[in-house]
Amino acid sequence: MLEGLSMFSLEGKTALVTGANTGLGQGICVAFAKAGAKVVGVARRSCEETAKLVSAVSDDFQEIIVDLSEANAVEQIMSALAEKNISVDILVNNAGIIKRCDAVDVTIEDWDAVINLNEKLVFFLSQAVAKKWVQNGAGGKIINIASMLSFQGGIRVPAYTASKSALCGLTKELANEWAKYNINVNAIAPGYMATNNTTALRSDEDRSSEILSRIPAGRWGTPEDIAGAAIFLASDAASYVHGFTLAVDGGWLAR
Ligand code: NAP
Repeated sequence: MLEGLSMFSLEGKTALVTGANTGLGQGICVAFAKAGAKVVGVARRSCEETAKLVSAVSDDFQEIIVDLSEANAVEQIMSALAEKNISVDILVNNAGIIKRCDAVDVTIEDWDAVINLNEKLVFFLSQAVAKKWVQNGAGGKIINIASMLSFQGGIRVPAYTASKSALCGLTKELANEWAKYNINVNAIAPGYMATNNTTALRSDEDRSSEILSRIPAGRWGTPEDIAGAAIFLASDAASYVHGFTLAVDGGWLAR
């Protein structure tokens, strides 16, 4: 590695990434492997495709299959890690869902599903991982995947906006409590990225061209676009960065 860039290296680190089978989570797994980390992907279905992509650079990918909507999801992840004798240095809370519906029609079930995965699970998984870091004095890095709707209102996605706005606040709150333990809690707010999350938007011609025309970079983002920010926040280079939500948005928020 070029002198001076070693502070960005993830050699010797193990990263736990939720929602690792596709999209941004998959992109982050590949980026971390390229930076030298061992990667453990959490998903509700096989991470075969991610494992294949990672295998081009490393053979250090493992998966933990858990449906994160289950009440004991955090216990399942922590037991799987203990069984495999894995200790984690980096946690990326990436898994998330969006349900598009007029605010007047949102059901309690849909509201709960979004808030439970995008917000409650992020807190309790972070708590379980950080508890270990506090006990063993090791410190660590947590990266929450936020959204443009951590800053803006959005439309027809009230639970999603509530959950992603909450993540921005939670990132700051946890940073305030855990910075003293050498735990860095930060977030990445992706702009409009070409993944399953935005399939509906991208297939709606009017919405798609409306969105594209507002992105200064003039294109949808990709999982590769998140790589640099994720590596930075996971690395020693970010050791004095706490509670910040970094937008990777092609300039959307600058508009
Ligand atoms: P995606 O392709 O839909 O990925 C979401 C991931 O979460 C998938 O791996 C999905 O698994 C997983 N997931 C959902 N429910 C789960 C459950 N109950 N148990 C386990 N895993 C579950 O979309 P993405 O864009 O990569 O989303 C990743 C994160 O980025 C999300 O938090 C999203 O809100 C955020 N984000 C995305 C954009 C964007 O424009 N794409 C913008 C801002 C923020 P399955 O494949 O099995 O569903």
